[in-house]
Amino acid sequence: MTTVSTLPEVVTVRAPAKVNLELRVGPRRRDGYHDLATVFQAVSLHDEVSVWRSDDWQVLAAGPYAELVPTAGENIAVRAARLIAARGEVDEALTIRIDKDIPVAGGMAGGSADAAATLLACDLLWGLDLDRDELGELAAELGSDVPFPLQGGNLMGSGRGERLTPVLARGSFDWVFAVSGTGLSTPEVYAEADRLRQQWRSGPPPAPRVSARLMAALRSGDAEALGAALGNDLQEAAFALRPELRDLCEAGIDFGALGAIVSGSGPTVAFLTASHEAALDLSVSLSAAALCRDIRRARGPVPGAQVVAAPRTPRSPGPG
Ligand code: ATP
Repeated sequence: MTTVSTLPEVVTVRAPAKVNLELRVGPRRRDGYHDLATVFQAVSLHDEVSVWRSDDWQVLAAGPYAELVPTAGENIAVRAARLIAARGEVDEALTIRIDKDIPVAGGMAGGSADAAATLLACDLLWGLDLDRDELGELAAELGSDVPFPLQGGNLMGSGRGERLTPVLARGSFDWVFAVSGTGLSTPEVYAEADRLRQQWRSGPPPAPRVSARLMAALRSGDAEALGAALGNDLQEAAFALRPELRDLCEAGIDFGALGAIVSGSGPTVAFLTASHEAALDLSVSLSAAALCRDIRRARGPVPGAQVVAAPRTPRSPGPG
């Protein structure tokens, strides 16, 4: 009898970037993390991750930000693959190809999207058949922002941001992302936020909460209300470290954006616009003002990690 493998040889999964519509940051915890209350929205900028078996661990990167993608040793996609390999007791090395369309180190959780995509791709490649909850647990081990791109849509995040719950939302929103030249490291921005807080207030900050205003705006699907409700507790820290980001936010509002917010820990700035046409107009104005390195448009919400291709190429029949 001949055996033909039913497992795919290459699996490709795409996963979305995120924007935090609101990011509220509580006091620094003993473990060094901060308690967060946030609402994530997945947006239509995607990385594609392909995995296949190889003799050694290897990362190949392509796309506009490829040169900024770390090689195998430090890449979070490799950590994700090794983690799920350990969970499934698989002892195989992989080549991981990342088609990178999400700005790197921009506060849009591109690395986390790659990690989420890799978990799903490896699950399929190795036939592990983990359910979404099991994948979510592995994702949370890898990083606070990794569970979200597995699910996508609009979700509330609590804890370090990794505990996700649904939010009532309708509508679809047009975004313009102004990508700044210089990365801001997430720990650097949190440290600056802590420093500013010590200057401004005597006691510890209150427990973080997402505003009723933002939830109402999402329920109604009203872009104008959402634009006015956007908020980020890390924004002042990002402005302190990169003063030009404040000018960028103000310029976008002057050019007609409904709202402007530093995305996560920055330095990408997200502008909410009234329509696709308004997003095009804003892109042209921002581009002419030459205030940022790159401009990307996207819509949100979009679904989380999805399998793009998993061809089941039959292996050569074995002997006998
Ligand atoms: P954070 O999760 O810190 O908010 P971010 O969203 O600002 O990150 P990422 O694009 O995820 O930005 O990259 C953060 C850092 O992670 C990069 O500077 C890079 O060195 C490292 N990194 C590791 N793996 C990846 C990857 N697959 N893609 C991009 N960056 C990666």
